[in-house]
Amino acid sequence: MSTIQDKQLTDIVVEDIMISSEKVAHVQLNNPLEHALLVLVKSGYSAVPVLDASYKLVGTIGKTIILNEILGLERFEIEKLSDMRVHEVMNTDIPSLSRDDSFMNGLKAVINNTFVCVSDDEGYFDGIVTRRAILKQMKRDFYTNRND
Ligand code: AMP
Repeated sequence: MSTIQDKQLTDIVVEDIMISSEKVAHVQLNNPLEHALLVLVKSGYSAVPVLDASYKLVGTIGKTIILNEILGLERFEIEKLSDMRVHEVMNTDIPSLSRDDSFMNGLKAVINNTFVCVSDDEGYFDGIVTRRAILKQMKRDFYTNRND
């Protein structure tokens, strides 16, 4: 069985480089913003996927969008963190990939996003592809071809 190290970029598919769903921090639609902010701050991630109760992908939520939402005229309205839910502020206009998408589709998707979610035909969340993973494969390919 060939490992990803043996593969040409043109043979790599999204599944080969994605972080699978079990290892991805996420929040759910009905979580209070406070929970989402805790997950983001504790994990150190700038944004994470939002899933519904059946683990379907519905959006992403990040620190900036939450902080903007609770920013009042003169102070952060901290009480909003427990009053508001993730579905009220999340970003639903997001690109997504499928496991069998090509490396090039992954590359195009991360040009404007630090990570892109992967879902199946029915919308169930499979994982994410990060810009870091794409760049790592491109670096490997560059050095491999230079040494040939
Ligand atoms: P990185 O390339 O590791 O810096 O990740 C870029 C972005 O992808 C992070 O800021 C997060 O928004 C997201 N991300 C990466 N890994 C994970 C993970 N395990 N769980 C949730 N989000 C992640």
